[in-house]
Amino acid sequence: MHRIAVIPGDGIGPEVIEQALLVLDKVSSKFGVKFEYIFIDAGGCAIDKYGVPIREEDLELVKKCEATLLGAVGGPKWDGLPGNLRPEQALLKLRGGLKVYANLRPAVLYDELKDSSPLKKEIVDKGIDILVVRELIGGMYFGPKGREVKNGDEVAYDTEVYSKSEVRRIAKVAFEAARKRKKKVTSVDKANILESSRLWRETVEEVAKNYPDVELAHMYVDNASMQLVKDPSQFDVILTSNMFGDILSDEASMIVGSIGMLASASLGEGSVGLYEPIHGTAPDIAGQDLANPIATILSAAMMLRYSFEMEDAAKAIENAVKIALKEGYRTKDIYTENCKLVGTKQMGKIICENI
Ligand code: ATP
Ligand code: MG
Repeated sequence: MHRIAVIPGDGIGPEVIEQALLVLDKVSSKFGVKFEYIFIDAGGCAIDKYGVPIREEDLELVKKCEATLLGAVGGPKWDGLPGNLRPEQALLKLRGGLKVYANLRPAVLYDELKDSSPLKKEIVDKGIDILVVRELIGGMYFGPKGREVKNGDEVAYDTEVYSKSEVRRIAKVAFEAARKRKKKVTSVDKANILESSRLWRETVEEVAKNYPDVELAHMYVDNASMQLVKDPSQFDVILTSNMFGDILSDEASMIVGSIGMLASASLGEGSVGLYEPIHGTAPDIAGQDLANPIATILSAAMMLRYSFEMEDAAKAIENAVKIALKEGYRTKDIYTENCKLVGTKQMGKIICENI
C-alpha cells in the first residue's frame, strides 16, 4: 500500500489529475499494488475555503505520505491578493516543507510530435531523450545577497555557494537516474571561471567513482547551451546547479515542443517526492475538456519510478502514451492535420486502455 497526497489545485489541475488517477488505478490492478489517495486542498481553492493557500495541518498530512501528486495552482481570480496569500505560496511551502533538493525534468521528443520541435529535421531525427537533474534549494538563488553603497556607488550581489554535501546528494540522484537510462551523465558547470564550479566538478568526480558503469562528461555551461540545440542526441542525464539548471531545463523543454507533454519530479530525502506537470492552471481552457493530461500522467509515471521503485509500471505508462500518439490521438494543443482530435477525458481513457 502506497499513500499518495493528491493536490488537484485550480483551473485544469483537477481535470488532468482525474485522468492521472484513472491511470494509477489501472496500474494498481495490472501490477497488484494498492494506492491510497489523500486529497488535499491547496492553492486558490484553499484560499476560497480556508483563507490560506495551504493549511498547516494539510502540510503535515502531506509530509506523512510517501509522495505528492499535484495538478497546478493559481489563476486570475486570486491575482489581486498580497504575496504571502497568493496560491503559488502553497508551492513554495510544499517544496520547502518536503526539502526537495532535486528537480528532474525529462525532455523527450516523441517521434509523432517531431513537427512541434523548432529544431531542424536532421537534428530531431537523431532523437531527443534528456533528463535534466537540477539542484533546487542551493546555489546562487539561496546564497548571501544584498545591496550596499560603496564609494558613492550602489552595488548589489548574489553569491553562489555550494557545500560538498549538497553537490554529493544531487550528483547521486543524477548517477542513480543514469543507471536506469543510457548510463551517461554530463555535469554542466563553469569550472574555468567559478570556484564553486571547481568544488562541484571535484565532488562529482568523487561520486562517479561509485558508479563505474556510468560514463561521466564535464561541460561548460556556455558550451552546453549551444550543444543542446546543435546536437541534443548526445545527452542522456544533465546534472547541474540551480541557476544553470533553471536556464538549461527551459531550453531543453522548448526543443521538444508542447508544454502539455512535460512532467517533473522534485525529490527530497528518502522517498518523499513532489510530482507535477510543468504547465500552469491554463485558465483559458479550464472546464472545457481541452487540457492535455499527458504531462500529469507522465508525472505519475515518474512517481512510480522514483518514489516507489516501480520501473516496469512507469515504463508501461510511458509506453501507453506512445501508443496513443502512434495511433494518432491528439488533444488540441498537439493536434496536426489528419490526426484524431480527442478531449482530456478520452485521452486519459485511451492511455488507460493501452496499459
Ligand atoms: P503558471 O504561472 O501557473 O505557470 P502560466 O501563465 O505559465 O501559468 P499556463 O497555465 O502553463 O501558463 O498556460 C500557458 C498556455 O499553455 C495557455 O495558453 C494554456 O492554455 C496552455 N496550456 C497549459 N497547459 C496545458 C495543457 N495541459 N494542455 C493544453 N494546453 C495547455
Ligand atoms: Mg508558467
